[in-house]
Amino acid sequence: MKKLLLPTSIVGSLPKPAWLAPPEKLWSPWKLEGDQLLEGKQDALRISLQEQQLADLDIICDGEQTRQHFVTTFIEHLSGVDFENRKTVKIRDRYDASVPVVVGEVARQKAVFVEDAKFLRKQTNKPIKWALPGPLTMVDTLYDDHYKSREKLAWEFAKALNEEARELQDAGVDIIQFDEPAFNVFFDEVNDWGMAALERAIEGLHCQTAVHICYGYGIQANTDWKKTLGSEWRQYEEIFPKIQKSKIDVVSLECHNSNVPLNLMELVRGKKVMVGAIDVATNTIETPEEVADTLRKALEFVDAENLYPSTNCGMAPLSRNIARGKLSALSAGAEIIRKELGI
Ligand SMILES: [Zn+2]
Repeated sequence: MKKLLLPTSIVGSLPKPAWLAPPEKLWSPWKLEGDQLLEGKQDALRISLQEQQLADLDIICDGEQTRQHFVTTFIEHLSGVDFENRKTVKIRDRYDASVPVVVGEVARQKAVFVEDAKFLRKQTNKPIKWALPGPLTMVDTLYDDHYKSREKLAWEFAKALNEEARELQDAGVDIIQFDEPAFNVFFDEVNDWGMAALERAIEGLHCQTAVHICYGYGIQANTDWKKTLGSEWRQYEEIFPKIQKSKIDVVSLECHNSNVPLNLMELVRGKKVMVGAIDVATNTIETPEEVADTLRKALEFVDAENLYPSTNCGMAPLSRNIARGKLSALSAGAEIIRKELGI
């Protein structure tokens, strides 16, 4: 990957066009079927690419236009999973969701996103980043009727993720990111086996690898949860020492408008840090100066060559206009800091 300074990127998702899926909600159902759906997803991916390029982002994502949800879509492609008879479970210890059920041994019999990644690769020369769910977040987003052990299931998922990641890498993906919002909730599991399972998922990869750990999408259940976390959110402190020792290259964090003490980033000094400088839980579009202010503060704890300006989380539930505005603000804010640094 070409050396860029303060390379900007989104965490992963962008809103989908209304003709593909009803906007501003999670698990939004597809409006098309069969070949039309396939074509519609590819058209949406093209639009998402264009919007990122118009905003002048440096690392391009697929905007998660071809998946209904960042976790369940991957799970539904595995064998051993029943995704028709879904169950409602409480996820992240926080809110109810209708999720697939593990009914037998899980295995990845076919590629999940590899064709989509090849499609994106063909359309841009910029570095591309692809998000996959992490093993711990996967086991926390389903009902397990077979293994009856979150740890055992996580290891099986890690194996499947590693197979997918290797093929994504071969398809030309520069950064593979694993989304682990559950890392901010289940600290003991992270430290006992969650991080080890994630390392299993990145085994043998030579492209860059990232882990995204946030406080969730801007949905009501998450906003309510954040209100209970007090004036200092120190969740990262529980898991950073483990991450620091891992082979993960990049850590993606929620910073802007959060109560995370930014000095916690000292604990992952040396890693690249995707600093969330865009709040995905508000419809207010940040000004470039606000973005720059967050990045400036982060620079006290992250060396400039390791700072990757980004969003706090995915933007799937936002309106498209607001998401577009936020992309431009991110880019303009990073440019302010580049100028200040004389780069
Ligand atoms: Zn997130």
